[in-house]
Amino acid sequence: MSIFSVDVGGTNIRCAVVSTDGEILHRKQLPTPPGLNPNGLLAILKEQAKLAGDEIRSRGLSIEAAGVAVPAPVPMGRDAKLTQVPNLPGLEGVRLSAMLSDGLGVRVLVENDAAAAAVGENWKGASRGANTSAYISLGTGIGGGLIIDGRLRRGPDGSAGEIGHICIEKNGRKCGCGSRGCFEQYASAGAILRLARRNGLKVATSEQVFELARHGNRDAMLVFQRVGYYLGILSAALINSINPDSIVFGGKVAGAMRFFGESLKKEAGYRSFRAPFRRCSIVRGKLGDDAAILGVARCVTARDDEADRKHP
Ligand SMILES: [Zn+2]
Repeated sequence: MSIFSVDVGGTNIRCAVVSTDGEILHRKQLPTPPGLNPNGLLAILKEQAKLAGDEIRSRGLSIEAAGVAVPAPVPMGRDAKLTQVPNLPGLEGVRLSAMLSDGLGVRVLVENDAAAAAVGENWKGASRGANTSAYISLGTGIGGGLIIDGRLRRGPDGSAGEIGHICIEKNGRKCGCGSRGCFEQYASAGAILRLARRNGLKVATSEQVFELARHGNRDAMLVFQRVGYYLGILSAALINSINPDSIVFGGKVAGAMRFFGESLKKEAGYRSFRAPFRRCSIVRGKLGDDAAILGVARCVTARDDEADRKHP
C-alpha cells in the first residue's frame, strides 16, 4: 500500500508518499501560506496528491490512503472537530478528517504531529523496539507523544501527551494554552531566546544562541544548561509516571542536545526512581523532519491491522 503522508506545520507543509514498510517514495515541501484555511489546505493537498500519484504511477503504484499530521489534539473519529489549533487558527472547528476524505477521495487519518512523530521514531528511529517510550518535540512549543505497551496513547480527546503544558512554575509565565508556568515557557525555542537575552546576549533567534554555544560562549552554554534542568524535571516526571524504555527528543531544539543533555540527565537521575532511570535511554531522535511523516503513515496501516483483528 502507498500512503500520501502530510505534516502540516505552522511554517511548512511536508508531503510524501510512504510505503507500508516505511520507504519514502516521494517528498515535497512547501511553505505554509499565511492564514491557511480548510479550503486552502484541501487545494494544496489535492494538487500535491495528484503530483505524487503521477510520480509513483510509473512504478505501478497508486495512493490508497492518506495520513495528515497537525499541530493540535485530534479527537477520535472521522467527524471529530479540531478545537484548539493555536499555530493554524484557520483550522479550528473543522472536521478535518471528513473534509479531506471527501475532497481527496481516499480515506484520511488525521493525527497530532508529535504523537505521529512518537510513532515514527518507535517504528524506524531512536526508540525502535521500545515497548514504552515518550517523545518530546522541542520547537516553537513543546509537543509530546506517548507509546505505552506498544500502543500510542491518544485518550478520548486526543490530548494525551500534551506534556509541554504540565506546570513547572506555579506562578510562572502565561502560556498560550491559558494556564501559566507550563514547561513550554521554559524549554522551547522561545524560552531559549528569552533566557539568552536575560543573560545579556544580543541575539534575534534561538539558532544564534546555539551558534554562540557552539563557539564556546559561556553565557549561551548556561542557557542550554538551564533548559536541560527543566527538561530533566520533565523527564523524571515521565520516568516516574510511565516507566519508559526510552525518552526521545526531537524538533529543531533537540539539535542542541549536546549542550543540554548532561544537565538534563543529571536532573532526571536526581528526581526519578533509580531502576526506571537506569533503564530509560534518553536520546535524540534519528528521523528529524521525517518522524511525523513516517509515523502518520504507520498510524494509517496500524489502524487497518487493528480493524482486521477486530473484524476478521
Ligand atoms: Zn501551557
